[in-house]
Amino acid sequence: MSVGPVTPESTTAPSSDNTAVGLAPNTQENTRVDLLNFTWSELENLLQSWGQPKYRVKQLFRWIYEELETDFNNMTDLPKALRQKLCDEAAVGTLEVESVADSVDGTKKILYRLQDGLRIESVLIPEEKRNTLCVSSQVGCALGCRFCYTASLGPGRNLTVGEYIAQYLDTARMLPADRSITNVVFMGMGEPLVNFNNLMQTLELLTDERGLNLGRRRLTVSTAGLCPQILQMGTKFPVRLAISLHATTNEQRDDLMPINQRYPLETLFETLQEYRKLTPTYHMPITLEFTLIEGVNNSMADAQRLAKLAHSIEAKVNLIPYNEHPGAPYKRPSQTNIVKFRDELQRKKIRATCRTTRGDDIYAACGQLAIHGPEDEGVSTAEAPEPRVVPHHRKRRN
Ligand code: SAH
Repeated sequence: MSVGPVTPESTTAPSSDNTAVGLAPNTQENTRVDLLNFTWSELENLLQSWGQPKYRVKQLFRWIYEELETDFNNMTDLPKALRQKLCDEAAVGTLEVESVADSVDGTKKILYRLQDGLRIESVLIPEEKRNTLCVSSQVGCALGCRFCYTASLGPGRNLTVGEYIAQYLDTARMLPADRSITNVVFMGMGEPLVNFNNLMQTLELLTDERGLNLGRRRLTVSTAGLCPQILQMGTKFPVRLAISLHATTNEQRDDLMPINQRYPLETLFETLQEYRKLTPTYHMPITLEFTLIEGVNNSMADAQRLAKLAHSIEAKVNLIPYNEHPGAPYKRPSQTNIVKFRDELQRKKIRATCRTTRGDDIYAACGQLAIHGPEDEGVSTAEAPEPRVVPHHRKRRN
């Protein structure tokens, strides 16, 4: 299987140019500008082009990002004429919450309908001291990792900056007033580094001190390993980096993750060394994510090779027990085998944690996004193809 398109698709900034992301032709409704696409300076420019003083941006940012307000009529310190213009021509976010599923463990999965009718999901994982939001980056995914359910949706489209930010704000509104989203992980549907420009602008907005003001170290971008974009992110906007590794030899990884045929392990680890050099002051160790699949990548030899790779970049390892889904031929190892694997890493002095599977009763666990529970089997995305079983075949390296 060939690797899908991996070049970042640029969308003009602000990304209200719908054609750049393949939205449906504009209708009366979606010609409104989504203010969530705009950084501070872009919003300043927009307001100036409307003949407004620059300082209005401060008021708007406060309403949108501190008060979480969406109704311009309630923005009482804005002049009436401006409120009217905003009501007529703008919107704060364009996502529609279609459903919210609550897991027994407190995890929430939110299904959003986008303006063009496609659907995405976000997952909120509440913990004692933090609330982590897992956001989607694309509808579907072109990378074709063989074990991932999202991959079965096939290539989709990039989310706009506004669609990224709305996932945060819409979820924040669901929390009690004294709680907020403290961490964002880009581990939902799609590959964030394929949506590179919009990702960079989203990181800028999430960290803007005049708005949401999240620290960089509270943001984690997870990637299947797009090497040029990892370096670009290190230069432009370094945040925590998680690599979906899942295999310790090229032969294995070529099989599970076609992206490895383009960027094999040697290239990936050289890139990660480079990323660390680009980000020395942030003290953000790289995480290697490793989904444990019985009989595929969970032998003691795998653990030993993984330990070596992790040592080479002083990485932490996060083990994810494979979440089974209909149609996929893979199995989750037994708890005993999972613990054995983790112990071997720890014996080799690797910081290894095992991700507790959260939200699997609502199909919100890793790799289950786009599955919507037994009552409506299959994909929710109206336009998406039927889920297909991705054949597992071995690929020879040339
Ligand atoms: N495309 C990015 C972001 C997705 S993050 C990336 O690859 O990193 C989602 C994580 O869950 C990835 O590590 C992915 O490989 C993993 N995953 C996918 N399907 C899974 C499954 N069925 N069980 C466990 N983990 C899975």
